[in-house]
Amino acid sequence: MRTDRTFTMLKPDSVEKGNIGPILEKITSAGFRIAAMKLTQMTTADAQAFYAVHKERPFFGELVEYMTRGPIVAAVLEKDNAVEDFRTLIGATNPAEAAEGTIRKLYAASIGENAVHGSDSDENAEIESQFHFAGREIF
Ligand code: UDP
Repeated sequence: MRTDRTFTMLKPDSVEKGNIGPILEKITSAGFRIAAMKLTQMTTADAQAFYAVHKERPFFGELVEYMTRGPIVAAVLEKDNAVEDFRTLIGATNPAEAAEGTIRKLYAASIGENAVHGSDSDENAEIESQFHFAGREIF
């Protein structure tokens, strides 16, 4: 039986600050299995497409600049109830509002530079995983 999957990115600020190891430790300690993972860098066109839902928002330009300024870690994670449990693990979009012990509370600087991405639905998890990985790269 295939368990649920979600998609994550450790965003450029996490890579720049040397937080890949600590964040992956939090993720695997919480029971997520890594089904796919790579260090990669999004182009401007990639980030505009990935975040197309936000294209009319005032922060869109800054978001695209931020997400393209350096490498990210993209990963597919597997666990029962993956999407919801991962959103709980990362905490609120704004780290000032994130619960104690969450990844954003521990490692995010601001609502803009908030350390990690987590899919918000099973459907988006599938779309976002396919955006970054070929089928043969997901195990
Ligand atoms: N973001 C931002 N300003 C805002 C809201 C969001 O810069 O006021 C950025 C932030 O990096 C966030 C991303 O846009 O993670 C996507 O926003 P969303 O509301 O989908 O939040 P998420 O699902 O990542 O918690």
